[in-house]
Amino acid sequence: AEEVRSFIVQEREDHLIQCTIADATIRLLAAVTTNLVNEACGRHGTSPTASAALGRTLTGALLLGRSYKDLEYITLRFDCKGEIGGITAEASAHGTVRGYVKNPLADAPLNAHGKLDVRGIVGGGMFHVIREAGYEIGLVKDPYQGSVPIVSGEIAEDLAHYLLKSEQINSAVSLGVFLEPEQGRVTAAGGYLIQVMPGADAAVIEEIENAIANAPHVTETIRNGANAEEMMSTTLGAIPFDVLQTHPVEFRCKCSPERAISIVTALGTDEVRDMLEKDKGAELTCHFCSAVYYLDEAALQNILNPPQPVVM
Ligand code: ZN
Repeated sequence: AEEVRSFIVQEREDHLIQCTIADATIRLLAAVTTNLVNEACGRHGTSPTASAALGRTLTGALLLGRSYKDLEYITLRFDCKGEIGGITAEASAHGTVRGYVKNPLADAPLNAHGKLDVRGIVGGGMFHVIREAGYEIGLVKDPYQGSVPIVSGEIAEDLAHYLLKSEQINSAVSLGVFLEPEQGRVTAAGGYLIQVMPGADAAVIEEIENAIANAPHVTETIRNGANAEEMMSTTLGAIPFDVLQTHPVEFRCKCSPERAISIVTALGTDEVRDMLEKDKGAELTCHFCSAVYYLDEAALQNILNPPQPVVM
């Protein structure tokens, strides 16, 4: 049975806003993801530094995913040489996200700026973005995959580098996770993605760059109670932006008891018979959410001898 603890740390629902700046020549996406990052980190038992790495990647997947019109599913994957080993986050167009890190206990001392040293546990490697569309309307297109070397390891910079190299989009990305020093609990998470479209005014871009450079960190504004729109007002100062849509976002996994049964079924009858004889059951843990599924003797018997439909 799945054990779900309550990780809700603030009343406000996590949310993402889609905005435009300067007559839609600049696109802005921003999100507050405190609850979903806290839930993901609680489920995986991540160290403080791994929590920051996972939280930034989950938020980045939601933001980047929302920037594509036809997207249904996006995967961000860091295959890295650092202690964390790898980070994966998957977000859907419906605002759900799930993810995990290979080594949740990877940790490092604070860096020279007194911040969690995400770069220190990520290290070098490759960053992959996989986009899928068409499934829900039955028109399966090949997934699009873009890969770039990890240039920073701080996640946000790697997203911006990917957009530039792989999609020729100039962008500014900020992602943050704040943990309470004593408890290790995530009390603020979120970020933004600003994309410059062709035809954007160079003067506006410069204004945005200056505003960002002098703005407080995103988690500071979120800790002060800001929602995504207020966070961007603080970040952009006098630069006006239009909020087009607001979407709720949440941590949600795709796993289920039915999926667990189909995974075991796919192992084949010899393997299932073996499990039945040796262990009298099977236990599966979902990578993405740490949910545990237990198939007992009767469930395994059912796989070997599915109940026959009754013909009336
Ligand atoms: Zn799961």
